[in-house]
Amino acid sequence: MTDFAATRALFELPEGIIYLDGNSLGPLPRAAAARVGRTITEEWGQLLIRGWNQAGWMELPTALGDRVGRLIGAEPGHVVMGDTLSIKVYQALASALAMRPDRRVILSDSGNFPSDLYMAQGLVGMLGADYELRVVAPEEVAGAIDDRVAVLMLTEVDYRTGRRHDMKALTAAAHAAGALTVWDLAHSAGAFAVDLAGAGADFAVGCTYKYLNGGPGAPAFIYVAPRHAEAARPALSGWLGHEAPFAFDLDYRPGRGIERMRVGTPPVIALAALEASLDIWDRVDMAALRKASVALSERFIAGVEATCPTLTLASPREAATRGSQVSFRHPEGYAIMQALIADGVIGDFRAPDILRFGFTPLYLSPEEVDGAVSILARIMASASWDQPQFKVRSRVT
Ligand SMILES: *Cc1c(COP(=O)(O)O)cnc(C)c1O
Repeated sequence: MTDFAATRALFELPEGIIYLDGNSLGPLPRAAAARVGRTITEEWGQLLIRGWNQAGWMELPTALGDRVGRLIGAEPGHVVMGDTLSIKVYQALASALAMRPDRRVILSDSGNFPSDLYMAQGLVGMLGADYELRVVAPEEVAGAIDDRVAVLMLTEVDYRTGRRHDMKALTAAAHAAGALTVWDLAHSAGAFAVDLAGAGADFAVGCTYKYLNGGPGAPAFIYVAPRHAEAARPALSGWLGHEAPFAFDLDYRPGRGIERMRVGTPPVIALAALEASLDIWDRVDMAALRKASVALSERFIAGVEATCPTLTLASPREAATRGSQVSFRHPEGYAIMQALIADGVIGDFRAPDILRFGFTPLYLSPEEVDGAVSILARIMASASWDQPQFKVRSRVT
């Protein structure tokens, strides 16, 4: 079991705020400032270049990769941190495509996050006209897998609705058709227990600034299944993925296993912040987390449906097919969300009409969920969202 009152005390949460946006940017672990401070003053400040060896900077991407790996059901030694998620999508997809040289189709769905589709479009543009990104509706994915598909590239949890794909079943269907899978775990890692090994996933990627609380711009991760570890060819063949970076050979040779998915110099300061967050995750039982997440989500759905008749549930009603977020639709969703934020309840808005709320048991209590419901109900009943200052769009929604 996990003591969620104890984990909550490990986060810095501003007074008077109910935070329902940990699915977009997790809060600050209290220990992170000191941990980052040590890296800066004691390691960078005192060790200088010696930090790479003496402070273990070079091992951080794989050491932290294994700690993320526990949360996503990866075999030890098969996850590495670095770069941003968009880059990791490109890497995984390029490697998977190269392993199916006689096929030309990348299959994805319209519930995928645009950056994943954009990266696939960029890659298709590089590879040539006979490659194709095929995008179907989420419920049509299973039926669209055929023997032309090289790679099935999906985000497990839809960023707008929270709808969750059946990773195990779709992976099996892809394999039965001779295709490989790339799973994006952006809204899965830290939201519930993922079982990559059990699902037979080939490649997986994800970020650490959402549910994993690694901080803005925290490094991403990539997983390559052990059976592909020595076969996957890195498309982004940077020197730190080379077999012997400090031999400074003129020709690239991929490093051993997951090491080849490194590209360049690791973001040591950002990894230090992530390490403080993973110290909290090390205490968390993922089954307990999921149970609490479902309870918070159901409590919110029931509360909103009882008090806000003009909001329509956009998420699956069935908890088993939902991640750890709940979304409601309203044509004035943007203004409603701004009014909520002004009243201390922070969620976010996704065009065209989605109000999105993340449920994160590590630092969110049932009482806060009730508080958020009653503030939302008051805003809806009084139409206090219907004011000009709530309709001005910011750069980040
Ligand atoms: C959040 C998110 C991203 C963001 O990618 P970055 O490169 O980290 O900005 C990409 N894909 C999915 C599915 C996401 O949810």
